[in-house]
This record gives sequence, C-alpha cells and structure tokens, in this order.
Amino acid sequence: LQRNPGELEFHQAAHEVLDSLSPVIAKHPEYTDAAIIRRMCEPERQIIFRVPWVDDAGTVQINRGFRVEFNSALGPYKGGLRFHPSVYLGIIKFLGFEQTYKNALTGMPIGGGKGGSDFDPKGRSDGEVMRFCQAFMTELYRHIGEYTDVPAGDIGVGGREIGYLFGQYKRITNRYESGALTGKGLTWGGSQVRQEATGYGTVFFTAEMLAARGQDLEGRQVIVSGSGNVAIYAIEKVHQLGGTVIACSDSSGFVVDEKGIDLDLLKQIKLAQRGRISEYADLRGCSARHVRGESIWQLPCDIALPCATQNELHQKDAKQLVANGCLVVAEGANMPCTPKAVRLLTDAGVAFAPGKAANAGGVATSALEMQQNASRDSWSFDHTERRLADIMRGIHTRCLETADKYGTPGNYVAGANIAAFTQVADAMLALGLI
Ligand code: NDP
Repeated sequence: LQRNPGELEFHQAAHEVLDSLSPVIAKHPEYTDAAIIRRMCEPERQIIFRVPWVDDAGTVQINRGFRVEFNSALGPYKGGLRFHPSVYLGIIKFLGFEQTYKNALTGMPIGGGKGGSDFDPKGRSDGEVMRFCQAFMTELYRHIGEYTDVPAGDIGVGGREIGYLFGQYKRITNRYESGALTGKGLTWGGSQVRQEATGYGTVFFTAEMLAARGQDLEGRQVIVSGSGNVAIYAIEKVHQLGGTVIACSDSSGFVVDEKGIDLDLLKQIKLAQRGRISEYADLRGCSARHVRGESIWQLPCDIALPCATQNELHQKDAKQLVANGCLVVAEGANMPCTPKAVRLLTDAGVAFAPGKAANAGGVATSALEMQQNASRDSWSFDHTERRLADIMRGIHTRCLETADKYGTPGNYVAGANIAAFTQVADAMLALGLI
C-alpha cells in the first residue's frame, strides 16, 4: 500500500489474488524464499507518455498514455488498451496484474500487460480518433512487437482503433508485423471469433458452471450489464444456447425488455451508429423501457453477467440477486463485483466465476490470432469457435480441480487464483531472479 499510494483498484486486485494464497504458501516455502509475491506485485516495466494531437477545431490536446508490462515469465506481454477518461496508473496496473493470471489460466504462452489513455473517444469524430491513435502509437511503437509486447482492445478500443493503431505501427516501422497487435480486421490479419470471443467465452464458462450443477441455459432469464463488445456477444451466445437476456445497459442507465433483447436492433444502435441505450427503448416499442438512476441488478434473473466495468456490482446488488434466486454470476468484465459482493454471493451458495477465468476467452483467441499470424494461416469460424469452447472448458476444469486440491471445493476464485499463481511462480523460479 505504501509503495503504491492512491492506486485503489490495483490494491483491490492484488488483495483478491493474495487472499487466496495462504494454502499454497504453506505448502511451498520456496515461493517465500525467492520473494515471489513481492516480485509479482512490482511490474517489470511501466511506461507513461505524453500524447499530443490536434482536434477538429485545430486545438492541440494533450492526453496521457500508459503501458504497464507486468510479467513476461510465460511469454511476451499481452493485454489490451483502454481509452476512457477514468484511466490512470492504478487502473492500468490492476488490469495488468489481473491479465498476468488470466493469461496463465488459458494455458497459452503469453505474459501479462495492459495499457491505455485518459482519452475519451465519446463524441469525437472519426478523424479525431484516428489522429489520437496515430499520436498514441508514435510513442508506443518502440515498446511493442511480436516477441516483446502485443496489445489488443479493451474499453473504448475496438476494431476501428486497432486499425488506426496498426496502420501507424506499420507506417513507422515499415514492417507488416501482424503479430504486434491483435483484434485486427479479418481482411488484414485478424482472426475469426476474436470480436465475439470474450462474450462467447463468458457464456461457455457459464454453461460449464451450470453443467457442473446438472443444469443448463435453456429457458434461463439472464441480465447482462454493458452494451459494448463483451456484452453484445455474451447476449448473442446466451440466445443461441436457449436463454433470454432481458436487460442490458450503458453508463446512462439500462433497458429492460420483457420479450428479450432484440440483438439486431442493439447491434444497429451500438455498433453501427455508436448510439445510446435509451435509443433502444425508443425504437423497440412497448415491450422495452429505459431506466435511469437505478441498479440493473435489482431485476430478477437466474444468471447475472456483469460485462461493463470494474466495481459495478455492489454488496446491496448481490443481496438482491441472492433474494431473487440467482444461480450463477460470471464476470465478463474485469473485477466488476466488489470484494463484499463476491463474499456475499459465495457465502450464499451462488456459483461465482471471477473475470480472470470467465472472460479469458478474449485473450485466448488473441493468442490464436498470433498463432495464425505466425503460420500465415487463417482458420474458419467453426474451427476457431471450437478451439475457444475447448479452452474455456479447460479453464473451468482447472479451476475446479485446483480448488479441490487445496481444500476449497467449488470455489472458482480460489481455484483460478491458485492455478494461475503457481504456474507463473514456477516459471519465475525456473528463470532465475527476473
Ligand atoms: P466497450 O467499450 O466495448 O463497452 C463497455 C460498455 O460498458 C459500454 O456499454 C459502456 O457504456 C459500459 N459502461 C462503462 N462504464 C459503465 C458504468 N459505470 N455503468 C454502466 N455501464 C458502463 O468495452 P468492452 O466490452 O471491450 O469491455 C467491457 C469490460 O470487459 C471491461 O471491464 C474490459 O476490461 C473487460 N474485458 C474486455 C475484453 C475484450 O476483449 N474487449 C477482454 C476481457 C475483459 P458507455 O458507452 O455509456 O460508456
């Protein structure tokens, strides 16, 4: 805490992992001897830089850029870029820390990193977003590459932004180095299913959790928060597997739709027009209403998938979910549930999956994109989706087996944290004092 004052989200993420580790540390004194935990809490490298760009009015704007290269014991740093006004070092460190363990859980050879900027893309023209991305990459390019650090998208960074970032990387380096960024478009080195992967993966994981309890998604009422990349494709997969998503949100409120969210309409508003969620209720008619200033988690549901942002589901929301008979909560976003909410849900017997396990499908498919780039190959949608489903099944099994082994059966938080930690720790020991 003293070393990193004011980095609240980083403290929260680190506590969440460290709280699970006492049974491991008791069994493995070599981790303590080698100061593994202290080394893991210190990023290998943190880069903070000025991003000057010119807006449409000709005014010079200055933003702050970040890349935190947290841990490369398992492979090149890998993790997304977030463009949002709330971004500061504490957010990027929390995300980079989480990413290290998430990436370990995928079983792929990728280390952990994260980056971004306090730039707010909302209300900016296409030209402004492009000039910002070019300015951002003009510094970032010297730190990334196929064998060093491979960024992707996150909040505020989708296919459009990755395109502008990759274009500038290519221009500066004079290299068509596809493996330097993931989330690319399908015609220029991207992978099938990458866009869908985090949302689909979260729902595959949810289906595994239900199956472990002898249940499935058929006929279930589901709430998904957010209406961005993760949320939209989580909704799509829930509907494909027989469930109904009755509500979703953005930062201006939520819509509830008795007939189930109309995904084509949602995609039209959110992906094509970059509009607000209130427009959904305006266009959908009487089955939908838009609600401001209330919590989406007050609505009754069987399954809750928080897919918007950190600390969006609080203790009082968890209480309401339990009272409403919710069976499963799986984090599509990173750390959307507060620690008190997580405790309340798990104590009440709700199956709870932490983001580092449930939303690992996005980065896993990014690693599949890297594989395709390295072999100059491109796989079909069905093949890639099967790989994703297998990876999510593998993570689910690993969480449960590890939880069993360390005396906390059924606890996905402990299982995910311990499995990931031991893998990263063993690699760090093997590589010497890094
Ligand atoms: P997007 O920018 O595509 O979408 C974010 C969505 O969350 C938007 O609908 C946004 O609404 C909403 N939102 C943001 N803040 C709030 C809030 N305070 N209350 C309600 N809604 C809010 O981002 P992604 O979908 O890519 O990311 C969502 C989460 O998933 C993040 O936690 C991210 O780290 C995590 N994640 C993403 C991965 C990916 O592959 N993209 C991979 C793994 C995790 P508005 O437009 O109004 O801001």
